[in-house]
Amino acid sequence: MAVNRPKPLVAGNWKMNGLKAAKKELASLVKGVAGAKSKPGCDIMICPPATILSLCSDTVKGSGIKLGGQDCHAEASGAHTGDLSAEMLKNAGARACIVGHSERRTDHCESSLEVKLKAEAAHRAGLMAIICLGETADERSSGKTIKIVGQQLKASLAESANHKNTVIAYEPVWAIGTGNTPTVADIAKVHGYIRKRLIALLGDETGAKTRILYGGSVKPSNAKELMDIDNVNGALVGGASLKAKDFLGIITAY
Ligand code: PEP
Repeated sequence: MAVNRPKPLVAGNWKMNGLKAAKKELASLVKGVAGAKSKPGCDIMICPPATILSLCSDTVKGSGIKLGGQDCHAEASGAHTGDLSAEMLKNAGARACIVGHSERRTDHCESSLEVKLKAEAAHRAGLMAIICLGETADERSSGKTIKIVGQQLKASLAESANHKNTVIAYEPVWAIGTGNTPTVADIAKVHGYIRKRLIALLGDETGAKTRILYGGSVKPSNAKELMDIDNVNGALVGGASLKAKDFLGIITAY
């Protein structure tokens, strides 16, 4: 690993999957990580549904595996039926929170300004914000990838962002859950651009140290190739994080 490369993070996003019984799968992951021939060279995180965060928190205790939430409200508390604050997630065992996932941007019409407020809420609660960005298939085919990613990054980044409390996840919307991934050259281009913008927005040191994850159809068979790309500092994994065996296969890319 190059001296100045940030320690990679592999985070699993379970989305709306996981009943109490999912604890077993998480326990297999804990066992797999503990029994690995060599200590994984990355930080490991699982973002389960909030309903089982506390349960998962007991399962990962002492394992080094961290937990995250999948979304949070911008306020700390109040009359927001059905919502969860960053403080509540922290209280249930989360150390981080995904914000701005494309499924939230699409299903709940979340704007980058809302994403930024959620990232600030995560920081207020002492959580790391994992800010998701990415272009749709139409935006890609009309050559707007860089423009869209640049706009989302600038507008979604919290004022309070630094390399310890913020991770960027580049997730092309068309690659999520489809089995399709961009080419190595395309990922290198977008991540290189995000790095340049982070340096411009946060300064040389913080910009260089902020982790940029790739997300979209990462699986054990393509993890090594994707994780070796310049400025790819880990992965945000959906489907392949649901099975301990698959997720372990991705972690071992490090
Ligand atoms: C995601 O939704 O964050 C994701 C990357 O999903 P998948 O790995 O299933 O494409």
